[in-house]
Amino acid sequence: EPLKVDVLIVGAGAAGLMCAIAAGQRGRSVLVVDHANKAGKKILMSGGGRCNFTNMGVTPANYLSANPHFAKSALARYTPWDFIALVEKHGIAYHEKELGQLFCDDSSKQIVRMLLDECSAAGVRVETGCAVERVRRHDEGFSVRTARGEVHAESLVVACGGLSIPSMGASGFGYELARQFGHEVLPVRAGLVPLTLSGKHQERYEDLAGVALPMVESRVGKSRFRAGMLFTHRGISGPAILQISSYWQPGDDLRVDLLPDLDAGGWLNEQRVARPAAELKNVLADVLPKRLAQRLCERGFLAPQSSGHPWPLPAFESRPMRQYREADLHEIGRQLHDWPIVASGTEGYRTAEVTLGGVDTDGLSSSTMQSKLVPGLYFIGEVVDVTGWLGGYNFQWAWASGQAAGQVA
Ligand code: FAD
Repeated sequence: EPLKVDVLIVGAGAAGLMCAIAAGQRGRSVLVVDHANKAGKKILMSGGGRCNFTNMGVTPANYLSANPHFAKSALARYTPWDFIALVEKHGIAYHEKELGQLFCDDSSKQIVRMLLDECSAAGVRVETGCAVERVRRHDEGFSVRTARGEVHAESLVVACGGLSIPSMGASGFGYELARQFGHEVLPVRAGLVPLTLSGKHQERYEDLAGVALPMVESRVGKSRFRAGMLFTHRGISGPAILQISSYWQPGDDLRVDLLPDLDAGGWLNEQRVARPAAELKNVLADVLPKRLAQRLCERGFLAPQSSGHPWPLPAFESRPMRQYREADLHEIGRQLHDWPIVASGTEGYRTAEVTLGGVDTDGLSSSTMQSKLVPGLYFIGEVVDVTGWLGGYNFQWAWASGQAAGQVA
């Protein structure tokens, strides 16, 4: 005898649990299954263990999608304030870190606890360690074979997440289900991910691993992000790089302004007058990490031929300031504001925070997340082609899309 439920949710992550709560509160019988041994594993590891659970500045512009309008409806109907109210109801202490990002004071475990408590209050059953093996559609809904037996459900919600961090239970199962039911799946790739350098580009910077800049501006096309940057053994990382990585693809022209808050050329010329005997590398070390300032003076930037800079860029050298002409210092300033980085790729799903692309929103209702092809089938969270910036936006999408489906499934 198969188990009969109104709503079966595949994936006990952020979106799946939120959807379960909303559906359970409407009196629907809800079962959530997850093949991982625990619910909400990504929530647990998020935000460095403190879960950046939302961002107070959420707007649809903070998301990437083939259809930038798709996320609007769900985001407008379940806002950061709705989630904050839930967090406060459970007495979870939180703080704003920067730019509207809200984190738990103590631990992301509290968010998972809160979601599971809400699930049990709403009569939701959550089964972990339970893989889904096969899904079939029939007149009254779906029949789903799980590791614990057959389940019949009127509505099926796919909340399997993306491909990032395979060791945490990520699988391509959501995309497979989408294809099985005739949905288009847009090409997927790693997002919010460190970039790698290779060959001479890597050699030039690899011993700078660990050097951090508190504020740079990364740019690809019209997208730009101001935040910190970090040199790694394999390339570059830090929030400004993670953010721009979602907009970058191999071959794209990536630039970094190393001194976005300074008119570097003008400042260097002031220093030339004020400290004529000081060497350039020591002057630059006032505004850049010392090792980076030294490296740039020894070797300059290694720019691609297409960058419009002389190639390879001459080293700045390090002479006393008085030996530079005004125009030299303006050119050095220009290069510092417009460093062309030739990245070879990304670190991939192993370290990516999100997966870009996924279930094409053209096949879904933006107000309910329901399939336009198969009644009773829903896709929510990261499996959908909606991907947020770094800073709590991805969880807000998971909560909002989960809520949207949970109101009707
Ligand atoms: P998930 O939370 O990934 O849940 C999907 C669930 O489906 C998983 O539990 C998985 O085990 C299960 N599943 C997969 N396949 C199957 C299957 N075949 N059968 C059964 N179950 C299956 N976002 C933020 O907003 N703020 C942050 O601070 C933040 N930090 C992050 C840190 C890291 C290291 C990572 C990797 C991501 C972070 N993110 C953060 C992104 C955020 O975690 C995701 O966007 C969000 O979890 C997506 O929610 P989801 O419910 O769609 O998917």
